[in-house]
Amino acid sequence: MKILISDAFDPSLPSKLEAFGEVIDDKERLPEVDVVLVRSKTKCTRDYIDQAKNLRLIIRGGVGLDNIDVEYARSKGIQVFNTASASAVAVAELAFALMISVPTRIVEGHIGMTQREWLKKQLKRTELMGKTLGLIGAGNIGTELARRGIGFGMRVIAFDPLLKSHECVDLVTIDELFAESDYISLHVPLTDTTKAMINSDTIGQMKDGVVILNTARGGCVDEEDMAEALKSGKVRAYATDVWYSDPPDPTCPLYDAPNVIMTPHIGASSSENMLRIGDVVVRILEDFDQQTA
Ligand code: NAD
Repeated sequence: MKILISDAFDPSLPSKLEAFGEVIDDKERLPEVDVVLVRSKTKCTRDYIDQAKNLRLIIRGGVGLDNIDVEYARSKGIQVFNTASASAVAVAELAFALMISVPTRIVEGHIGMTQREWLKKQLKRTELMGKTLGLIGAGNIGTELARRGIGFGMRVIAFDPLLKSHECVDLVTIDELFAESDYISLHVPLTDTTKAMINSDTIGQMKDGVVILNTARGGCVDEEDMAEALKSGKVRAYATDVWYSDPPDPTCPLYDAPNVIMTPHIGASSSENMLRIGDVVVRILEDFDQQTA
């Protein structure tokens, strides 16, 4: 079996995969390979799949499958897997860090200090304890964030139409979530239903001074509407790891909006997570190897 590692994985992975066959990273050799490993950078479009004449398995190291034409791949008999739950802790920790950076005012304090400004009087703080955290999507990542919020004394509620019950949060309607949350965190895939679900209309239903966190997908939030809501103060802060495109277009309105905390799509990038993803890739290959033996 020939395995193409097309994107960045943990450096220990190639040697772990050698038991399954030849491991290569030369993308020009796509037509020869049986298996391709991708993260977000490689786009497995129809054209890409058509070039990969021998392809039998695509593994995405990560949660979604948005960069893979799954239907087309499966129509060609190619199996497609991701490493679904491996990244939950890494992304939840980043979401929590983004959330707590707002009331603690760490970013403004740090920027002030780098400019030799002592903002002790200006930086009035608040606390997470006793505040309501509303999760939109309570799957693997939402649940990990819920546990952390509860640990900090928050009340955690969630809107997730596909769940009937949840181990540690109260499920509510989206209207209740918008009306009651001090912090709203997105943990949904990007679909027709979730695209731009945070927009001027839905922001209008939220509490004044709400804080919105996005470690899901940039497209779930209308960036123009968010920039306006930040300028008006309706939204106190928008902390985001995700963008319409990676990196964002230089004209992205969030660059010039106030109270935005930005990270460059690093939710899944912890070294521990890269090792976990590698372990799941090995398990998927073991199953595939047995099926095809
Ligand atoms: P998951 O599948 O475990 O959970 C997603 C949840 O969203 C499910 O429970 C589902 O029922 C719910 N859902 C679907 N449509 C919904 C809707 N319209 N409204 C409310 N809930 C809805 O996925 P996960 O592992 O928790 O990941 C969530 C998302 O996080 C991924 O889809 C991906 O977009 C994003 N992600 C980002 C990073 C990053 O680097 N920032 C890394 C991994 C995943």
